[in-house]
Amino acid sequence: MEFFSGKKTIGILGGGQLGKMMLSVTRKWDIKTKVMDPNEDAPSRIGCNKFVKGNLMNYENVFDFGKDVDILTIEIENVNTEALDALEKKGIKVYPQSSILKIIQNKCHQKQFYQKNKIPTARFQIFGSKEKLKDAVVRGFISFPFVWKTESMGYDGYGVKIIRSNQDLEEISPGPCMAEELVNIDKEIGVIICRSPKGEIKNYPSVEMEFHPEANQVEYVLSPAGISKKIAKKAEQIALSVSDAFKHVGLLAVELFLTKEGEILVNEVAPRPHNSGHYTIEGSFTSQFEQHIRAILDMPLGDTSNKVAGVMVNLVGKEGYKGPVYYKNIEHILAIEGVNPHIYGKKETRPFRKMGHITVINKDLKLARKIAEQVKETIEVISK
Ligand code: ADP
Repeated sequence: MEFFSGKKTIGILGGGQLGKMMLSVTRKWDIKTKVMDPNEDAPSRIGCNKFVKGNLMNYENVFDFGKDVDILTIEIENVNTEALDALEKKGIKVYPQSSILKIIQNKCHQKQFYQKNKIPTARFQIFGSKEKLKDAVVRGFISFPFVWKTESMGYDGYGVKIIRSNQDLEEISPGPCMAEELVNIDKEIGVIICRSPKGEIKNYPSVEMEFHPEANQVEYVLSPAGISKKIAKKAEQIALSVSDAFKHVGLLAVELFLTKEGEILVNEVAPRPHNSGHYTIEGSFTSQFEQHIRAILDMPLGDTSNKVAGVMVNLVGKEGYKGPVYYKNIEHILAIEGVNPHIYGKKETRPFRKMGHITVINKDLKLARKIAEQVKETIEVISK
C-alpha cells in the first residue's frame, strides 16, 4: 500500500474537529494528508502535512485542491459537488461519492430518496417557497403542529422548527422547504455503518442520543443504547438498508427516531464521521475515524464492538460567554477515572458552540452516565 509511509496522499475537505480526529489515524499510520478549510486556524491544521485555505463551496478551490490527491474525502457535507463530479471523471477516488453528497445536501431530495427506496421515514410534503407552505396551511392541506425544515444548509437544528401557530410560521426563513409530521419521539437512536469499495459492510451498535432541551443539540451519547435487543437490531437493520440503498464508501451515520408507538423512522444521514460515534475512540475496538480511513483505502474493516460502555458529553460554549476560550476546572475532571477530554482547538467560544467532547468509559453504563453528568456540571467552557 503506497499510502503507508508512501507517496500517495489523502485529501480532506473541511478542517474541523472531525478532520482533526481523522488525522490522528493518518498520523498513527504515517499517511500523507492535505486539508482545505476557509479558516486559517482550523482545528485540523496541526495534524495534516499540507494545509490549504479555500472556500469549500467554490468550484475552482475544490477542483484545484483535489486534482493532485489520490483519494479525496470530506468531514463536512457542504462542499461543491460539481467539482467533485469533475474530479471523479478525471479518475480521482472521491469518497463519499459526489452523487451521494448531492442527495444528502438537500433535505427534500434525501426524504424523496427514502421514499423511493421504501425506507421508513416520517410523512412529509415539499414546498417550493415559504409562501406556498403558508398557502397550504390556509387551505387546510396541512395543519399545526408540524416540523418545518429548510431544503439545504441547515445544521444542528438551525434549519428545523416546530410550527404550532401562524406566528411560528411567520418567523421561518423563506425558500424551498418541507413540512414533516411531528413525530412522537421516545428516543433518538444513531447507527453508524461503514462500507468499503469492495462492498464489505460493518455496523456499530445502536447508540442513544440525549438532546439539550433549549439548544436542540445532542448533549449526551450513550453506548450501548438503553433499548431492548430487538429494537436495537431493528434499528441496525434499517440503517443497513439505508447503507445498501446509497452504496456509499466510508462512514454513513444514520439518525433514527424510535417513536412512542415502537416504530423506527429514519430522520437523516451524514456520510462522514459523526458526533454520535466519538465514543468509539475510547469505547470501541476500532474508532469510527480509523474505520473511515480503512474503508476509503479499501482495506479490511475493523471490529465495531464495544470494549466497554461509553457516554460522550459534548463540551459546548457556556451561555453568556464569547471570546478567547478558557476551560475552567479541567484539572478536576481529569482526576476522575475513565474521563477522556478532547479539546478541538477552536480559539473562540460562543454560546453552544461545539468546543470539545468528553468520553466517559466504564464497565457500568449507568455509572458512566452519572460521571458524565458530574463532568458536565464541573467543567465550564467560558472566556476570561
Ligand atoms: P439538523 O440537520 O439541523 O440536525 P434534524 O433534521 O436532525 O436537523 O433535526 C434536529 C432535531 O429536531 C432532531 O434531532 C429531533 O430532535 C427534532 N426533529 C426533527 N424532525 C422531527 C420530527 N419530524 N418530529 C419531531 N422532532 C423532530
